[in-house]
Amino acid sequence: MPKVVSRSAVSSSTDALPTASSTAALRIYYCICSEFILVIDKALASHPRRRTDGAIVIRSQDSEAGKAGVFKLNAVIKEPILVERQGGHERQYRLHCPRCNLPVGYQTTPPPMKSGPFTYILKGSLSQIQGQLPPDAFEDENFVRAS
Ligand SMILES: [Zn+2]
Repeated sequence: MPKVVSRSAVSSSTDALPTASSTAALRIYYCICSEFILVIDKALASHPRRRTDGAIVIRSQDSEAGKAGVFKLNAVIKEPILVERQGGHERQYRLHCPRCNLPVGYQTTPPPMKSGPFTYILKGSLSQIQGQLPPDAFEDENFVRAS
């Protein structure tokens, strides 16, 4: 018979942000409308990218593969949309900027936030500098500067 271990003693809230003494290490990201969207313990650039759409993958729940990232999103979850993927469809609950309504990310599970294993940040949607366009905003576009 397998031994049953109570998990109650090790439960920790993934919503809890670090105390003031460690906030210096937190990164803050803004929408291009300059609304504060995300505070997180590691730079977005250091996170893995999704192969399908290049979205930044933030682990939102602890699993055997790793611990959840410490982050807080200031976004509004909208009705799900269906996105075509190889071999089927994917339901995406889009996360929108509360000010300008631009989609900044998504999760594949219904609300609340972080209900699934991962939270995805759309490529080029957030900037670390308030009011500045993210450096990868035009990564995929054939962006030709008019001269
Ligand atoms: Zn915005």
